[in-house]
Amino acid sequence: MIVVMAPDAGIAEIGGVIREIERLGYTPRPSHGRSGTVIGVVGAGAAGDLAHLAEFPGVARLEEVAHPYKLVAREARPEPTVIPLRHGEVGGREFVVMAGPCSVESREQVLAAARAVAGAGARVLRGGAFKPRTSPYSFQGLGEEGLRLLAEARRETSLDVVTEVMAPEQVALVAEHADILQVGARNMQNYALLEAVGRARRPVLLKRGMMSTLEELLLAAEYIMANGNHQVMLCERGIRTFETATRNTCDIGAVPALKSLTHLPVIVDPSHAVGVRAWVPAVARAALAAGADGIIVEVHPDPDRALSDGAQSLTPDGFRELMASLAAMAPAVGRELSIPV
Ligand code: PEP
Ligand code: MN
Repeated sequence: MIVVMAPDAGIAEIGGVIREIERLGYTPRPSHGRSGTVIGVVGAGAAGDLAHLAEFPGVARLEEVAHPYKLVAREARPEPTVIPLRHGEVGGREFVVMAGPCSVESREQVLAAARAVAGAGARVLRGGAFKPRTSPYSFQGLGEEGLRLLAEARRETSLDVVTEVMAPEQVALVAEHADILQVGARNMQNYALLEAVGRARRPVLLKRGMMSTLEELLLAAEYIMANGNHQVMLCERGIRTFETATRNTCDIGAVPALKSLTHLPVIVDPSHAVGVRAWVPAVARAALAAGADGIIVEVHPDPDRALSDGAQSLTPDGFRELMASLAAMAPAVGRELSIPV
């Protein structure tokens, strides 16, 4: 259930409701927005009846949330969640582009990629330091050294950095170097990891599991929010179907569905969704047209020599062309995207 406070409710009134929720054995999860405060009531309390909260001073109304997820539900927060970046924000009018190599491979490689994507108008640099690889014999990433290289690229370009964290014990280290913590598709239901990033003070990019429903994705996000971290972005990265021409099947309908089910920003990863360089730009544009808040796209200075996912990585020139087409399209769908001239 959600307690919607009146727009003019003060600290004392909000505090009174929070104390009563706790007294009943539930956990209050307040969320403060421009149009007021809503308080999510989570957990199985001892006393079932919360109806009397409607009579508390400052309470506008109580709302039942029909979904199994509560805090991520659209009803829990009338305004969209907006996540600030060093430059710009995710979830506002701007269409945010995150770009960079699949893996951090070397200083030269990541700095070249960072300069290229920053020069073309990206806001966030992506790059994996800890890599979830299907084969234990494939390149596993540079680990901590990769994180240091990403931080160096950030200092030079002032891009924010998003990178994957694969285990709860890595969260503190990754959060020290990165601005956004990525939870990969394979870990979407790693609940210990979700709880750990939920306790971290960094935004989280949560990728949809390749065999997960949207409800499972939203419940994974609920774990993060229930642990105190409200800065969550959801990422559609393609799901596994019977189709083999594309690496995965991009569920573009997930974008409007998620935008109506939750207040959290929605990002699309066209690279892992289709897996073929030539097809990535079309899916990136489809993401913008469908109402996504941004994309995360793989770009490599020399894709044919990439240590992972070269076949789906754009060249710097290809990325610049993509950015020009997105910038031309954005106003037609009510979004902003400015690229350097
Ligand atoms: C990645 O972003 O490089 C990655 C491994 O993505 P996913 O978890 O979606 O497969
Ligand atoms: Mn990849």
